[in-house]
Amino acid sequence: MAESNNALKEVGKVAGGKILTSVGALPSAIIVLFIAFLVFIVLFITSIFLNDETNTPDYGVKGISEQVMQFKDAIETELANQGLDASMASVLLAILQQESGGNIARTNGDIFQSSESMSGGKMGVITDPNESIKYGVKHFKNVLAQSNNNLDVAIQSYNFGVGFISWIGGEEPSLDKRLEFSSEMKQKPQYASSLFTGICRNDAEARARNACYGDPRYLDKIKNYLVILESDGDYMGFVGDGNFAMPIGGTMTITSDYGVRIHPISKERKMHNGIDFGCVNYVTPIRSIGDGRIVFSGGAGGYGNLVIVQHEQNLFSAYAHLSSLSVNVGDTVTLSQQIGVCGSTGASTGPHLHLEVRTEKFGGHKDPKSILGL
Ligand SMILES: [Zn+2]
Repeated sequence: MAESNNALKEVGKVAGGKILTSVGALPSAIIVLFIAFLVFIVLFITSIFLNDETNTPDYGVKGISEQVMQFKDAIETELANQGLDASMASVLLAILQQESGGNIARTNGDIFQSSESMSGGKMGVITDPNESIKYGVKHFKNVLAQSNNNLDVAIQSYNFGVGFISWIGGEEPSLDKRLEFSSEMKQKPQYASSLFTGICRNDAEARARNACYGDPRYLDKIKNYLVILESDGDYMGFVGDGNFAMPIGGTMTITSDYGVRIHPISKERKMHNGIDFGCVNYVTPIRSIGDGRIVFSGGAGGYGNLVIVQHEQNLFSAYAHLSSLSVNVGDTVTLSQQIGVCGSTGASTGPHLHLEVRTEKFGGHKDPKSILGL
């Protein structure tokens, strides 16, 4: 960048000099100006790409309680109402999990603990979950805007308050910085009371630094519930208890359910041992529905190219008809990691993903819907 700027300055100087000295040099001056224009265009395009790099990744969630997941739709609706991107739902769900401890019943309706941000510290004003979501989203929108869409700063400020945003001044909110801020705040008279213990009580490092204001580890706690998804458009694959996600991102179509059906090829009444998802041949990435280890990856007759992931001792997921496989037996995979690409191999009438959930590597089929929370 610095080099290009200097180059631009040099070009400008030469061009200016030529124009003033002689009319005969005009054509070369035009060429030089043209080059200067090109340099400007390159700098402009570079700046666009640099901006692009600061965009936050798409997140899914993991480890979220079922009680919290029930609010997914309401959160998405409120995000849309307030003009925020639906992809922020994962972050809000993680915040809700943290604020409620996953136990919604315990929150007396103020699921986001929004009363504090709404009424300047007065607790217990909100008793309606929808009202709490509204103010929780509003608070988040505010910290996100004030932090110039720096998601890490915004998340930490959700806990610390907006004062943290100007304090951090565009720097990355490292744990060291967060402990420092917490300690500084604790020294203010209004927070000096022993009532403000923050995480000090249970955290030796925080205690040693007198970081007793708010929760300096809030960002880490929220990030523990987030899983970075590969760029895949509007991936909204978080479902169930959050430990499992959809095998396909974006808009998802189930073309055939688990259970007895007329088989599309044999035309017999037959048990369908999985769920079929519509997908694009050779294009749609197929992802592991949860953390696990690859126990099968290869051709398997009617299943075509098949991957089997073992998640727990007695829990497996199988992905059939893939056009290509991107994992090997023994690999470990994480939630939403790509394992292959959509296809139509084996006994298949067209491109789709046939997903099975099993209690054994080759048997014990069960309806994937329960595990996916469908
Ligand atoms: Zn199927």
